[in-house]
Amino acid sequence: MNTAVRIHDISKKYQETHALKDISFKVAYGTISGIIGPDGAGKSTLLRILVALEKADKGEVVVLGNELPRMAGRLKGIVGYMPERFSLYPDLSVKENLSFYARIHNTTIEENYHIIQPIYSQIEPFKNRLAGRLSGGMKQKLALSCALVHRPVLLILDEPTTGVDAVSRKEFWDILRLLVREGLTIIVSTPYMDEANQCNNIILLHKGKVLFDQSPKELTREYSMDLFRIAGRDMFKLKKEILSYRNTVSVSLFGQGLHVALKSDPSSGNLFNHFLASKGYSDLVMERIKPGIEDCFISLIPKTETENTI
Ligand code: ADP
Repeated sequence: MNTAVRIHDISKKYQETHALKDISFKVAYGTISGIIGPDGAGKSTLLRILVALEKADKGEVVVLGNELPRMAGRLKGIVGYMPERFSLYPDLSVKENLSFYARIHNTTIEENYHIIQPIYSQIEPFKNRLAGRLSGGMKQKLALSCALVHRPVLLILDEPTTGVDAVSRKEFWDILRLLVREGLTIIVSTPYMDEANQCNNIILLHKGKVLFDQSPKELTREYSMDLFRIAGRDMFKLKKEILSYRNTVSVSLFGQGLHVALKSDPSSGNLFNHFLASKGYSDLVMERIKPGIEDCFISLIPKTETENTI
């Protein structure tokens, strides 16, 4: 692997909170890596360490050949960072914000226009509008333009699609894929499991630990349970009943139904049907389904942590 980022055995603690515990992974040049996990998983902490805004308590961090924090000064011109809360100036116009970021990096919009063009062209018609008056999707495109305006080699994006509508989310991912095709390396964090499929590699984070670090395909391939979707009445009672079944591994609410993971067995469907009938459930709609990324994520979390959520 031609390694752009190498993290080895890092940990970070804030008072009593272990934000990151013994994390190791590598990111190859020219790929999109997704740091995926729920709120509080440690995503922002990890990304802040990668851009040297935080220091790990232990372990090694090497970004584009620069060991951090010792060589942090070298990152400025080669890394683009988009923090979770967009750091735009609401009282400056779209163009003024972008010019400001360009000037910080001793460049101009014109000099690197070809780099930002796929994104910036979408907001350029509004270049005189104050950034504070942009929609969520447009703010996100401006923030990405600002992170790109100095032609970084590595782009680090912290939850760029959180709170953004579905169409803007899709457009955003289209742009990221385009940038990677042009040679950029991207590390992006997200709480949305469905975005995992857009990445070459995913690092699933949970409570500061890496649960999985491979391609999204590998994640679904490694899923080893029988998975069923069940719809019926009183999901809370139904979930409790199903959790008492001896072959149940996990039960989670997905939309209007439950996803039930059972230990793999050729007759798991029949046995499970008998169990449900014995509990008086005769009107349930049940189908066997293929696991999605979220099912895989849940399968990696200890059972005790998923039992009480619905
Ligand atoms: P995520 O980005 O996945 O939501 P964070 O990295 O923001 O997760 O946070 C991981 C954990 O570390 C959380 O429990 C959070 O409350 C805690 N944390 C993050 N930053 C700080 C800080 N500056 N001071 C104290 N605790 C923090």
